[in-house]
Amino acid sequence: MMFTLPELPYAYNALEPVMDEATLHFHHDKHHATYTANLNKALESHPELAEKSIRYLIAHLNHLPEDIRGAVRNNGGGYFNHALFWDMMAPEGSTSFGGPVAEQIAKDFGSYEEFKKKFSAAAVSRFGSGWAWLVWNGDHLEVLSTANQDNPLTEGKKPLLALDVWEHAYYLQYQNRRPDFVASFFRIINWDYVNELFEDAKKSRKCGAAE
Ligand code: MN
Repeated sequence: MMFTLPELPYAYNALEPVMDEATLHFHHDKHHATYTANLNKALESHPELAEKSIRYLIAHLNHLPEDIRGAVRNNGGGYFNHALFWDMMAPEGSTSFGGPVAEQIAKDFGSYEEFKKKFSAAAVSRFGSGWAWLVWNGDHLEVLSTANQDNPLTEGKKPLLALDVWEHAYYLQYQNRRPDFVASFFRIINWDYVNELFEDAKKSRKCGAAE
């Protein structure tokens, strides 16, 4: 089995004006495609691992054979993170903040505004390339950021929302204005999907183990 590049769940211009068509073409068709190809290439020497799900590989990253661990960390992480990221976004106005995850955000952060402040700070302050995350840590939500293509699932934390802050995610449209990109992102969050991920995450309390 080979990993395949998932199609975007919406048209390339569907996230405008927050994320423009050219950015999505490059980001999905070039960057995500390259992570996919390089992940498949890395797994050629370990065909038994190519049968596993990407969630399994990322959750068990530290137990993978050493000769491919770095390649799976970077390219498997890139493959998984972007697949999540596309589904975590939706055309503006098509979903709204609500449901169980909204209740949990109120409980763990105090308010939506406080959550937004923490998530934005994580995204803006990540030095160099990486991601900002909202994760479920077994019994509470956390905001954190990771470097490069690292995914919190490797540390047993379940990703619910992610924002790519690599320059390739925004530079064509926002140039050096990462804070503007981060501020706009909240308009296109797919809260229905975040709620779905939250429901799944709560089902397996022992994070990572059931992947
Ligand atoms: Mn990216």
